[in-house]
Amino acid sequence: MEKKDYRVLLYYHYVDIEDPESFAASHLTFCKELGLKGRILIAHEGINGTVSGTVEQTNAYMEAMRNDERFADIVFKVDEHEGHAFKKMHVRPRKELVTLRLEEEEDVNPQELTGEYLSPKEWYEAMQREDTVVVDARNDYEYDLGHFRGAIRPDIETFRELPEWVRKNKHLIKGKKVLMYCTGGIRCEKFTGWMIKEGFEDVAQLHGGIVTYGKDPEVQGELWDGQCYVFDERISVPVNQKEHVVVGVDYFDGQPCERYVNCANPECNKQILCSEENEHKYMRGCTHECRVHPRNMYVKEHNLTNEEVQTRLEALGETLETQEA
Ligand SMILES: [Zn+2]
Repeated sequence: MEKKDYRVLLYYHYVDIEDPESFAASHLTFCKELGLKGRILIAHEGINGTVSGTVEQTNAYMEAMRNDERFADIVFKVDEHEGHAFKKMHVRPRKELVTLRLEEEEDVNPQELTGEYLSPKEWYEAMQREDTVVVDARNDYEYDLGHFRGAIRPDIETFRELPEWVRKNKHLIKGKKVLMYCTGGIRCEKFTGWMIKEGFEDVAQLHGGIVTYGKDPEVQGELWDGQCYVFDERISVPVNQKEHVVVGVDYFDGQPCERYVNCANPECNKQILCSEENEHKYMRGCTHECRVHPRNMYVKEHNLTNEEVQTRLEALGETLETQEA
């Protein structure tokens, strides 16, 4: 395979799509014909996708999309990549593009109401002002791998917990200009609108999200620490072109770490930052229960015998018996 002859497209567009079900079905056929792989969500409120393909395939896709008047001004964030970033092609109809599960009267149409857009340069300047507060609109595991320096980390595992977090933590942001950011911008389009509806007057969003900020020739990702979590096989992409400060820490020993793995217990599957060394040491289990789980994937992948499992557990001061007792 040629190096970097593939690309990953990240994009979204809030626009009315009349029949998401049939649109999704025909869009899937179209994407498969092109040879793309990826994940696309279709809702009445628009489209949200990440796809990978060759330069030719992705060019053909972008051209076809722009020729559809609904998507004429869609913005594609383009990354070079070696090979596909997905295994399959999915296009799924959904009720909403980002899972907030707001009640109907609470829901916001970003085409009608959304926060002020800040360009990367404006964001860079705004976040250094005293009268602003930066709030990360993403999930905790995304923040933990990388974030804007000084940004508040809402302690949430999923996006739909964010409204409640804001209501409980008003004191952290009250009286300040609120600056919100997410990976590509789609979550903030919706959420900054919700914030305004909720009564916060001065709410802004990073236009194009972290990904755009990292590519901006002027700011070059400055004041970003760590990596940016992405929802494809790459798991993370670099942002700050000027310096690389590692903020991720190993789940087991607290050492600097930017390597995400999933807990080997398929029933847990928790994402943890973990060095290769600790993956072996802890058999990729986030707890004792996960390490000794009968379906532990690490044990399976490495064909570990009972004795070998026992030896690793003993090195951690654990035994199989305590679990079975
Ligand atoms: Zn686990």
